[in-house]
Amino acid sequence: MEISGKNFKILLTREEIDARVEVLAKEIADDARGKNPLFLVNLTGAMFFACDLLKRIDYPCEVYPMKFSSYVDNRSSMEVKEDLFPDIDLEGRNVYVLEDIADTGLTVHSLSAFLKDKGCATCKIAVLLVKPDKLQVPLKIDYYGFEIGDDYVAGYGLDVDFTGRNLKDIYVMTDNL
Ligand code: 5GP
Repeated sequence: MEISGKNFKILLTREEIDARVEVLAKEIADDARGKNPLFLVNLTGAMFFACDLLKRIDYPCEVYPMKFSSYVDNRSSMEVKEDLFPDIDLEGRNVYVLEDIADTGLTVHSLSAFLKDKGCATCKIAVLLVKPDKLQVPLKIDYYGFEIGDDYVAGYGLDVDFTGRNLKDIYVMTDNL
């Protein structure tokens, strides 16, 4: 499959993703039951993961979008910026963050610290994909879907140059970076 002029092959099929999301949804639903949970979906990559997971929780929950992104600043150090955050009081709430991927881990690390400062009673992180060999910061991830290698992935919410998010399977780039 060619995406934005680069070559990709299937890494995880839609069936594999679906089966894993089903398990995660059950674990999270059991854990969050009776806790008036509040879900924060980190846009844009976690959209598909979040929809599939949240539809499987069969009691009412609060769900909000947010947008935290990491970037390299002009001194080549990694920074995280908050582009969108809902105007809600998190004091005493049981918060669950849904994120697409932990690569360096900086985004998850920073958003966990940000949410703890907001006074949540608990803050749990669910990440669909983790690249263990690329993590640069210690991470406490409560739920994850799959551990994968270092190469760039796309599909199921993840983009290549803004395209390919709509693909149902997850693909890995086969070109040398
Ligand atoms: P981190 O802060 O962990 O380095 O990066 C997190 C963000 O970088 C993710 O939310 C995602 O948007 C982007 N990212 C990291 N690795 C990949 C990848 O392999 N594919 C895509 N499409 N995005 C990635």
